[in-house]
Amino acid sequence: MAIDVHVHTRGGEDGNRILETLDEAGLERVVLLAVPPQRGEATPEDAHKQSIDDTARMVAPDAERLIGFAWIEPTLSDAVEAVDYALGEKGLRGVKMIPNHWYPADERARACYAKIEEYGKPMLFHTGILWGVSDTSQHCRPAFFEIMLHYPKIRFAMAHMSWPWTDECFAVCGKFRAAAGSDEGREWSSFVDITTGAPRIWKVDALRKAFAYLGDRQLIYGSDCFEPENGEALRRHLEEDRSILRDAGASAETMERVLSKNALRWLGIE
Ligand SMILES: [Zn+2]
Repeated sequence: MAIDVHVHTRGGEDGNRILETLDEAGLERVVLLAVPPQRGEATPEDAHKQSIDDTARMVAPDAERLIGFAWIEPTLSDAVEAVDYALGEKGLRGVKMIPNHWYPADERARACYAKIEEYGKPMLFHTGILWGVSDTSQHCRPAFFEIMLHYPKIRFAMAHMSWPWTDECFAVCGKFRAAAGSDEGREWSSFVDITTGAPRIWKVDALRKAFAYLGDRQLIYGSDCFEPENGEALRRHLEEDRSILRDAGASAETMERVLSKNALRWLGIE
């Protein structure tokens, strides 16, 4: 069984239906990402509340298998409050962010990290080239995530292996390993979400390098699927990545770590 750590919701999905799709797809658990709160002049003061409430409702049928992540946009005025609301009051399990025209070391983002660290919950960052949102890929380069060295209790994952900056991503991840090695009591807090972005030929090549340099304990599987009620789509993503991992030389044990065990550690479940 596998855990998919990167599934988007569009809002309004039915948690019971998602549980059925997990069975169809051969998934043990799924991380469901809230809808991003919109920015703009008409943004209400409690912009995050609606998406957090909807995610909490969605995961209610089985909060073990359905793992809700809040989407926090640090540039909105209610961001820090929203972290409290999501992780405290609503019991969501982590936070997703996209550096959208702000850098990871932005003071507003740092205020959110400080709050998230108090809860000891994991984070998922979009990293790498960014489709869809206009000219903001530059804000998502992996080296900027060195700022997370200042938040050692946040286990954070860099999504999409930061493609096309996979080497930079692994080097940053290696730097967190070194930090853990030189600082007693500090864990290796950086993870790499292997969610697609890179075309297959790059992905196989990058995973080979990742296994050689980082080993197989920090990599986690995600699909970046936008259809949590579509078991067939989730299953297809999983099959594709199983085949890519095999081509990259993953043993059965490595496969189990990447597809399931490492995610449990990142999520703080075991
Ligand atoms: Zn995504």
